Amino acid sequence: MNSHSISGVCVYIEWYSEAQKLERSKMGSGRHILAIPYPAQGHVIPMLELSLCLAKQGFEITFLNTEYNHRRVMGALAGTERVGDGNIHLVSLPDGMKPGEDRNDLGKLTNTMLQVMPMKLEELMNTIDGLGGRGITCVIADENLGWALEVAEKMRIRRVAFWPAAAALLAMQFRIPKLIEEKLIGSDGTLLKSEEIMLASSVPTTRTESLVWACVGDKETEKILFQVCSRNNKAIEAADWVICNTVYELEAEIFSIAPRILPIGPLLASNRLENSVGHFWPEDSTCLKWLDQQSPRSVIYVAFGSFTVLNNTQFQELASGLEVTGKPFLWVVRPDITEQNPNNVFPLGFQERVKSRGKIVGWAPQQRVLNHPSIACFLSHCGWNSTLESLSNGVPFLCWPYFADQFLNESYICDIWKVGLKLNKDEHGVIKRTEIKEKVEKLLGDDELKQRIQKLKKTVLKSAEKGGGSYKNLNNFINWLKS
Ligand code: UDP
Repeated sequence: MNSHSISGVCVYIEWYSEAQKLERSKMGSGRHILAIPYPAQGHVIPMLELSLCLAKQGFEITFLNTEYNHRRVMGALAGTERVGDGNIHLVSLPDGMKPGEDRNDLGKLTNTMLQVMPMKLEELMNTIDGLGGRGITCVIADENLGWALEVAEKMRIRRVAFWPAAAALLAMQFRIPKLIEEKLIGSDGTLLKSEEIMLASSVPTTRTESLVWACVGDKETEKILFQVCSRNNKAIEAADWVICNTVYELEAEIFSIAPRILPIGPLLASNRLENSVGHFWPEDSTCLKWLDQQSPRSVIYVAFGSFTVLNNTQFQELASGLEVTGKPFLWVVRPDITEQNPNNVFPLGFQERVKSRGKIVGWAPQQRVLNHPSIACFLSHCGWNSTLESLSNGVPFLCWPYFADQFLNESYICDIWKVGLKLNKDEHGVIKRTEIKEKVEKLLGDDELKQRIQKLKKTVLKSAEKGGGSYKNLNNFINWLKS
């Protein structure tokens, strides 16, 4: 075996012999799970959260990242390869991309992963199998990685698909054969007819041109993504479970349309009374102290997740928008949120002018931020994790979606649950400072909206508490894993 190409495996062997000395008797056979997230921040965090829940139940977990993300997670964790009281071991495999290649190029990343990772995964699993008979007994893979479920099937290992986004999105993917049959799309996913698709009355409608694989902007990538979605649909048929980081009450009708999807969310660190892990950037916790000094429900929290990039004009308009609100704000400015270093893009003198009421960080401990009593609202890109985290804390939204499923989530927030407001673009496609100011004021003055989100917060939290729907589903799932 080439130690260079499968560095994670070698690390694993070293760890294993060390681990043998540790509490070997604690874990029975049949309790070693291989967890494989899709290589993106919004997928790694909830998969690791699920793994931490399982580790608490005594499962041993091997958590497999791509080498690139593994290095980032290790960097943010200050080097420790074990989390969850040592029961989770972080390992890695190469994704097939060269150093410096653009991993935000989804088409390319998908293709190279498909070329390299299934074979490496099989090798990794065989290596683990050879180690004292404590082989992997279950694979939990992100639904987007159908190939990992296929490898598990080939090796006759139990398998579970994990979906970290809205169940409605997966239900739409399940509908692909019907969309082809109805001639809305071709068999390669190309758009044949522009039409509004309604899965159920309490679920946002989706236009055929906004289907998740069809709105990336580059036709070649869209074709690749469509093929992968179709392949994943097949892989999932052979999965033992399809679990989803959502809450029954948020998307109730979806579970009768797609009964295979089991809601187990929200997967939050607060359920374990601990901090969230698996971040690609080190968290700047100084903002929590800063929040302590602000008045209750006064601060606008602004964050766009891990992927969003704003052009310079929009970034400057956002800065000016925050300035003209006159309110305190906490703004996450990721080092890569603009095409050049954001410090060179701020409007002239901005940081100086807002320093008494504006806090800017590179990456925030978001779950703890949203739980802070000083937060008034969340100006968000509407990633699914951010959506669940804000709902769970009763923080209303100002919606600024950017990509893929974020438009569906925005529609859930504003049109269905009615707990947030949309920010509209002007005729040049820019969200102007005046729009930001007006919507902040409108949102903070809307008492009915605030009451609705408080009610929804209770529903969401209740689901994860003892006796709640997600709690019961997760328990049933865990009992199956133990069987
Ligand atoms: N996040 C964080 N600190 C930040 C920004 C984001 O911890 O400063 C976390 C956030 O809590 C969420 C994840 O990163 O768990 C982002 O996932 P989401 O689905 O919201 O968006 P994505 O990054 O996938 O677009």
